[in-house]
Amino acid sequence: MIIIPLSRLESAATTKPQGYYESCLAAGTVVGENLELSERAFAELRARFAPPPAVSQLRSFVGAVAAECGSALAGEQPVNNSQKAGRTEICEACEFFTISDRRCSKCGCWIDAKAGFRTQDCPVAKWPPL
Ligand code: SF4
Repeated sequence: MIIIPLSRLESAATTKPQGYYESCLAAGTVVGENLELSERAFAELRARFAPPPAVSQLRSFVGAVAAECGSALAGEQPVNNSQKAGRTEICEACEFFTISDRRCSKCGCWIDAKAGFRTQDCPVAKWPPL
C-alpha cells in the first residue's frame, strides 16, 4: 500500500498534466488527509503521467528539426499563425498538457515550439491534418 498526503499530491499536481490529481483520487481511496493506493495503481499512474525518457526526447527533437528543414527545402508552406493557434488550443484542453511548463507529457515536447512545426503530429492524433 502506498500512502500519499493529499497536500503533497496537490503540490505535485501543479507540475503534472491536467487531470493528474483527479486520476490519482480515482485510483485510490482517501482516508483522512491521505490517499491510499495499491502498488499496482501507483505504478500505472506513474507510467501514464511520466514523460518519455530524456534520450528519447532529444532524439525526437533532432528528428523534428531535420524533418522541418527537409520540409522547408522541399518548398512546403510553414505552419501559419491560425494553424498554430488551433493546435495550441487543442493542446491546452488536453489531459496530457502540463500547464506549468506548457509541455505535452505524452511526447515531452514544448507545445509552443511543436505546434509551429509542419512535420509534427499529435501523438494521439488530436490535431487535424494541415
Ligand atoms: S500534442 Fe496531442 S497529446 Fe500532446 S498535449 Fe497536444 S493534443 Fe495532447
